[in-house]
Amino acid sequence: MFKRVRGTQDILPQDSLSWQEIEEVSRRIFSLYGYQEIRTPILERVSLFNHSLGEATEIIQKQMFELVHGKDHLVLRPEGTAAVVRAYLENNLDKKSQTSKLFYFGPMFRAERPQKGRLRQFHHLGIEALGSLSPYLDVEVISLGARLLKELCISGYHIYINSLGCQDDKARLAKALRRELKSRLPKLCPDCQNRYHRNIFRILDCKNSGCQKEVGSLELKQGRLCSACTQHFRAVIEGLESIGVSYQLSPYLVRGLDYYTRTVFEFRHASLGAQDALGAGGRYDNLIGLLGGKELPAIGFAFGIERILLARGRKAAPKNQSLVFVITLGKLAEKKGVKLLHSLRANNIPADTDYAGHSLKGKMRQANELGVRFCIIVGENELAKGMVSLKDMATGEQNEIKQDEIVDYLKSKVT
Ligand code: AMP
Repeated sequence: MFKRVRGTQDILPQDSLSWQEIEEVSRRIFSLYGYQEIRTPILERVSLFNHSLGEATEIIQKQMFELVHGKDHLVLRPEGTAAVVRAYLENNLDKKSQTSKLFYFGPMFRAERPQKGRLRQFHHLGIEALGSLSPYLDVEVISLGARLLKELCISGYHIYINSLGCQDDKARLAKALRRELKSRLPKLCPDCQNRYHRNIFRILDCKNSGCQKEVGSLELKQGRLCSACTQHFRAVIEGLESIGVSYQLSPYLVRGLDYYTRTVFEFRHASLGAQDALGAGGRYDNLIGLLGGKELPAIGFAFGIERILLARGRKAAPKNQSLVFVITLGKLAEKKGVKLLHSLRANNIPADTDYAGHSLKGKMRQANELGVRFCIIVGENELAKGMVSLKDMATGEQNEIKQDEIVDYLKSKVT
């Protein structure tokens, strides 16, 4: 038997209802905040991500699922932001309006070592707001994330927030870190010794306790942002406070990718264990310029749908309360059943039947398993009289109704 690829998941019918619910709630909230959907291809050019995420990042170093086809060097997209910015520029959305507010859903691919909450194909729901540097847009984006989790009945998470500053601030911080950490290098874990040369910011959020101790003794909190970035961050914090969004300042939160500038944030949920990030994002004020557009600032986030599902816990699949189940007994009745099903559905009444040739008992069991509200039973007797029997599965009551009245009768009950 063939097995699915490690680190991928089948989403079965009983689970897909939860997925639909997450998408429906997200769509409603995104549109409440003025975001419109964008769908970009899963296949992109490798160069797009090499150019934007940073050569030294973990994604580029070891997590890209690359495909070489003829002269094309492609990749299954590892994240959404670079792809959305590519589409935004390629389709001239930057010329159409001052600020573009976009949302997306879709699979992302990273060749990681699978574990709980960490897959090789997982799904993002994300937003990108492009074209504005207003700190109040940061407030909107973060508060939208909080609202989304509220609507999805997820509590018990914390929002961590930091400002990396602009490119100049980042360059200064990298230099200071290099200076400060040089003598402590032997005390850092092997990964961080590597990061020192390739991606020094990642040392700040290393989970190794020895590295955390070294990082904790650095004096980085004061005065590392320029005055414009300090003001920006203050306005974000004050904005969040003014609308009652709780947050924790996290001076060592850096995020993995090169393109982040200024505000960065993460939503973490303790119930998720080692992979505790539900969602994360930040500003990327230089990425649009880097990908060939004008120098336009932007901000976005992405939540992992699988992690949202883990944080929500398993919910019982809802019963199919609006479905009508047609039970036919005998060849003639079966033919009548085809027409009946057709006219129920033509009147937008969800309806189904048994195609496996079960006995009456088996058909009733199937109806019970589906959790339907009504069964229509068509047997030889009913057929001869021009009637059908209607069984209300909630009360157990059964009545005969004229064949040509049944659809109208049910229309008033289930639609
Ligand atoms: P990132 O693009 O790494 O900031 O990821 C944003 C969100 O996507 C994270 O907070 C997770 O919820 C989710 N995520 C990232 N990587 C994975 C993965 N390998 N498996 C499952 N979810 C992931």
